[in-house]
Amino acid sequence: MTELIDGEAVAAEVREDLSGAVATLEDAGVTPRLATVLMNDKQASETYVSMKQRDCEELGIAAEDVRIDADAPAEELFDAVADLNARDDVHGILVQDPTPDHVPDERVLSAVDPAKDVDGFHPENVGKLVAGNARFKPCTPHGIQKLLAHQGVDTEGAEVVVVGRSNIVGKPLANLLVQKADGGNATVTVCHSRTDDLAAHTRRADVVVAACGVPELVDGDMLSEGAVVIDVGINRVDADTEKGYELVGDVDFESAKARASAITPVPGGVGPMTRAMLLYNTLKAAGEQTGVDVTLP
Ligand code: NAD
Repeated sequence: MTELIDGEAVAAEVREDLSGAVATLEDAGVTPRLATVLMNDKQASETYVSMKQRDCEELGIAAEDVRIDADAPAEELFDAVADLNARDDVHGILVQDPTPDHVPDERVLSAVDPAKDVDGFHPENVGKLVAGNARFKPCTPHGIQKLLAHQGVDTEGAEVVVVGRSNIVGKPLANLLVQKADGGNATVTVCHSRTDDLAAHTRRADVVVAACGVPELVDGDMLSEGAVVIDVGINRVDADTEKGYELVGDVDFESAKARASAITPVPGGVGPMTRAMLLYNTLKAAGEQTGVDVTLP
């Protein structure tokens, strides 16, 4: 019987556990605060930002919604980030991806004060993560690690194949899983668009994480019997629905479910965990910046 890994339920537990940290901060006179900075007109980004704002408010984290016109000069974004860096009442800053082409990505990643970089993408924080001393674990990989732990998957000595080598999912996840630490100690293979014979890798994996942005790329034939399957993908594909599309993952759910011992659905798997771990990082940032000892799950 294949288990469905319920990301909504695990994320709700994480949020519940985090409410203690909010109370500890409030008792110390600190209101944790996240600022999101949005500089594009894309509907999907707008939706992501408003979900993040709502998640914060529901938990008792103040959310500040900074908007920069997509046509504005790059300096407007960098000035806004510098102002947020300088404010003691702002503990976390997130610049919603993507920014317009005239705003260099590298500069955006470096602009946020590393102590407030709740995405964990600043080069200093990437370095700390790789060295096994993470300040902020990036939200999606951290959420996946929590899901695996919650599912009772022992990663120690396990063969994990990560499909995708992006800086926000594949690479940081591989780094976390390979570390000599709880939730790590795995033998990790990172596959990507130039991998020869992807199926040969995925078929020998105990855990397959699909984060390639290709709808339903990983199917049941590519899995070993009893594998644990984590589907990170969120792809809009045309469909005969009211909205004209539906969301599918990077895994062909039905065929994969027939072979897997456990699998995440899309939606309702990794996505809610990503959102919960942003709250986690914001509270970690608030605790560290104010010297308040918060206990995090
Ligand atoms: P990306 O586009 O930055 O990277 C995709 C990676 O997949 C690349 O490294 C590429 O080499 C690899 N790839 C592409 N085609 C491949 C193929 N045929 N075989 C093997 N590897 C291939 O993507 P990303 O930002 O890491 O996101 C991946 C997916 O996860 C997307 O669907 C995205 O929407 C989704 N996502 C979901 C969450 C979440 O919270 N659930 C968070 C981030 C991203």
